[in-house]
Order: sequence, then structure tokens, then C-alpha cells
Amino acid sequence: MKQLIDGLFRLESARAGNAYLIEEGGRSVLVDTGLASGARALVAELAAARIPPVTDVVLTHYDPDHAGAAAAVQRASGARVWIGAADARILRGEQEPPTRTRRTMQRLGWLGRPEVPAGLHELPGHAEVEIAAGVVAVPAPGHTPGHHLVRWRGVSLIGDAARISHGELVHFPGFLISDRTQADATLAAIAASRPRLVCPGHGAPDRLVGSGGDASRHTAS
Ligand SMILES: [Zn+2]
Repeated sequence: MKQLIDGLFRLESARAGNAYLIEEGGRSVLVDTGLASGARALVAELAAARIPPVTDVVLTHYDPDHAGAAAAVQRASGARVWIGAADARILRGEQEPPTRTRRTMQRLGWLGRPEVPAGLHELPGHAEVEIAAGVVAVPAPGHTPGHHLVRWRGVSLIGDAARISHGELVHFPGFLISDRTQADATLAAIAASRPRLVCPGHGAPDRLVGSGGDASRHTAS
């Protein structure tokens, strides 16, 4: 694990998508897990780390590069797994993905189909949920209907709500976005919250231009 700031780590073995770990109040909260193919290495990395017990896993959304290793982490740790209710329905196969592109991606088995963790804890999607003291799941729809971000001590762990390019939040390609209006609102809300650090689902954590703090922007490491 690589420490980003005090209490916040980026896992090194998560495959394709980023996984982050927050230490708070004697517990560890994992945010996203990467692909299923990285599960064994991720579980080993967590087991080798000197961290409090992993009690919770928050999945920002249902895509396999974020939810893929959640079931394995749950088996190893007994952690609760949280995901937006709308995405839980898609993950369990109870509801079709929301766009034609996403339906095609699922039919073709794009990045595989994640094993569904047992007893998913569903985030309602219309309100924030405090997962642990100060670790808050915030609805951030657009990329998927039930997408969430995690806010902790001024840091925003945003999943695929946006990418970061040269210190600015930018959208993913349109074909990956389920609802552009929602995605616009989510991106604006993240920027308006002026996070001191943004941890995206893909690429390196970074500060946003104009968010205060260190005037010379650099990758936190
Ligand atoms: Zn992703």
C-alpha cells in the first residue's frame, strides 16, 4: 500500500481500477477493489498491511473494474459491502444496465462479470450515508445510476464520476456515461466542494486547480 496522506492509502495490487483504504476510528474502509483477476493479490496486500480490520467496502459503482474483487475481500475479512441501490440491482442482474452501450458491454462480458458479494448493503441514492466516523458515501450519479463517491476529511474519492486532467475534472467518454445531465451535476458538485485531494477511479490522485492548498500542484504521494 502506498500512503497518500495520513490515514489514506492507495492499494498497489488492484487491477485496472484504483482501490483506496481509509483508516478511521480503529477500522479500515476500502473504497473500490479493481478487477476480479486482482483479487488474490489484493487480499494478500491487505493481509500483509499493518492496518485496523477492514470492516467496510464501499463500491462506487457496479463496473467490474471496481466491484470485481469485492466478494473475495468480503470472504477474507467479513466486511460489509456497500453500493448504491440502483447499481446493486444491475450487479445482481435484476435490472438491465441503463444504456444500450452498457447493455452491450455486459452482454459481451466486458471485463468479466463480478461475483456478487453476499448481503449487499444498499445506499439509498437520495441521501448521504456515514459508513464510519467521518467516512461518508455521497450520491454521485451519472456514470451509472447508483454511482457514489466517498468523502473523508476534505478528500473526495470519486470513482468514475470524473477523470482528472491537468488538475481539472473532466468527463469520461460519452458512451460510458449513463446520464449526461446527472454526470454534469455530479462533476459540478465535486468541484464546488473544493476537495483538498481527489482520488479518482483511474489515474493518480491529484489536487484540483483553484482548490486552494498547495499552489504548485503535484501528485500526492
Ligand atoms: Zn472504472
